[in-house]
Amino acid sequence: MTTPVIELSGVSRRFEAGPAALDDVSLTVHPGESVAILGPSGSGKSTLLNLVAGLDRPSTGTVTVDGVRVDRLGEAGSARYRRAKIGMVFQFFNLLDDLTVTDNVTLPAELCGTERTRARHRAAELLEALGIAQHAQAYPGRLSGGERQRVAVARALMNRPPLLLADEPTGALDSASGEEVKALFNDLRDDGQTIVTVTHDLTLARACATRTVRIVDGRIAADLPMEATR
Ligand code: ADP
Ligand code: MG
Repeated sequence: MTTPVIELSGVSRRFEAGPAALDDVSLTVHPGESVAILGPSGSGKSTLLNLVAGLDRPSTGTVTVDGVRVDRLGEAGSARYRRAKIGMVFQFFNLLDDLTVTDNVTLPAELCGTERTRARHRAAELLEALGIAQHAQAYPGRLSGGERQRVAVARALMNRPPLLLADEPTGALDSASGEEVKALFNDLRDDGQTIVTVTHDLTLARACATRTVRIVDGRIAADLPMEATR
């Protein structure tokens, strides 16, 4: 038995007003699984991702990632946890426009105290692997959406995280750029990267997921291997 990368047990998250954003969710994700989280807008998908990332705390229940009790971490601990364990990719890239592509990608390593030469070597390798080496010294504002998202993925992979999280990574892209990002997530899955992707885009799920979890009204409504997903 391998240790799960993610273990949510009885997780609920209630905000001040309205029904629970997440209601008694339990979910286990094993190494090498690529899970697409599907569901209507407002169903709790981002809430779930934020809890796994340690950006939010559950009202009840436990969140364990790669052996770390994420729900118990304080602010400093949770920042350290994210640097060590998590790579994150967002809909709108969240790159720093005043830094070059290389400096964006090496930032997580520098925050961990990785030696600069080593970090730059790793960044060069990642940019090469992602087909954007020619943009290493460019600023993100000069790149297409697909190229920017590849930079964001390189940054997310910088510290070799056991878990990659993505929230609508194709949501802001034109269809050609969306295809590039789908192909990239497909490769990452084939490399054995454990991934959780929140998406409305069923074609992204088909391209990259081994399993789909459908959330409706804060609860898991279906949890299926990819082949069984309609
Ligand atoms: P999804 O990502 O599936 O669209 P969310 O997880 O963002 O859904 O939201 C789930 C529910 O929780 C929604 O009803 C939303 O309004 C509510 N919610 C999310 N974040 C907050 C917050 N910070 N404060 C209050 N309500 C929130
Ligand atoms: Mg969302």
